[in-house]
Amino acid sequence: MKILVCKGDGIGPEIVAAAEAVVKAASRRFNLGLEIDYAEIGLESLKSQGTTFPDATIQRMKESDGIILGPLHTAIYPPPEKGGPNASGGTRKALDLYANVRPSRVRPGCPAHVKKMDVVIVRENTEGFYADRNMFAGRGEFMPTPDVAISMRKVTREGCMRIAESACELAKQRSGKLTMVHKGNVMKMTDGLFADCVNEVASRYKLEVDEYFIDAMTALIVRKPEFFDVIVTTNMYGDILSDLAAELSGGLGLGPSINAGADHCVAQAAHGSAPDIAGRNIANPTAMILSCGMLLDWLGRRHKRPELQEAAKRIDEVIESQLADKNGRTPDLGGKLGTGAFGEAVAKRLAG
Ligand code: ATP
Repeated sequence: MKILVCKGDGIGPEIVAAAEAVVKAASRRFNLGLEIDYAEIGLESLKSQGTTFPDATIQRMKESDGIILGPLHTAIYPPPEKGGPNASGGTRKALDLYANVRPSRVRPGCPAHVKKMDVVIVRENTEGFYADRNMFAGRGEFMPTPDVAISMRKVTREGCMRIAESACELAKQRSGKLTMVHKGNVMKMTDGLFADCVNEVASRYKLEVDEYFIDAMTALIVRKPEFFDVIVTTNMYGDILSDLAAELSGGLGLGPSINAGADHCVAQAAHGSAPDIAGRNIANPTAMILSCGMLLDWLGRRHKRPELQEAAKRIDEVIESQLADKNGRTPDLGGKLGTGAFGEAVAKRLAG
């Protein structure tokens, strides 16, 4: 099974190396037969190939079973026409990765802003307000005059139905409860369509469904996080809500995610490239490692290979015990371990 690694920018190379050590240990321990290969992306490929998102990398991604993608510092990329397309959004579009799945869980012993939280946010990933991916040609943002800026939001029945399916499937495997989040009181057509689709799919799955507006939801998830389990929402609401959930449950360094479509899955930490701490061996690779675990779980389900799912479960358990030990943490969580040492410690626990 082929896994393609793209290191990314900022702390990307450090946290990806730590995650790679864990994935290799899992492959040995569970006989997964994973073959790891590399492709350039981001600032690295801008320097060597003149673009942050080379065609060759896209092709290699399409040929891989799974992809490990480090964070990308897109804010400093040159304009797309000068070689700086957003390779993160570009990957989601090129591989049609419509489901961004972001769990946030309070881990025993880890500092968190709330006592109890175990939610998974399922965010639509290919349309909505995202100007770089919601159009066939051109961008969903334009300025008719220097003083007028207009943004278009695209919501389709197909997009809503497939994200609803992903969320309902997950809710069925977990507590049977689904929360949908939107702003249908104001965005009556777009969010109205989203809500209709989620209700239709959820009734087929016979789930318990509740519904909140995004503004109320930001307050509720702080006030009673234990009340929620699987949350489904559109692209930008999900982006914002999942950062809030990650921070509440212990910080951005703990928030994993996968971006999944029908045929491809990319492991990608929910946080960004953190250029302020890059190259100092202090970044927390937990989110990246857990994202790789989620990728193995996705591959296990897709290829009906239970050993991949077993490896994913074990990675999660090992991270839990590693973080429960104060000496086993990186500086963002009050510990002293470096990024590399954290990865090695987790890999060692996995092998044992
Ligand atoms: P980008 O522009 O790529 O989104 P950013 O720095 O604006 O990067 P994030 O990287 O998401 O945004 O995070 C904001 C801050 O949180 C970082 O500056 C960093 O201090 C902290 N942070 C994020 N990820 C980690 C991590 N894995 N380990 C430790 N600290 C982190």
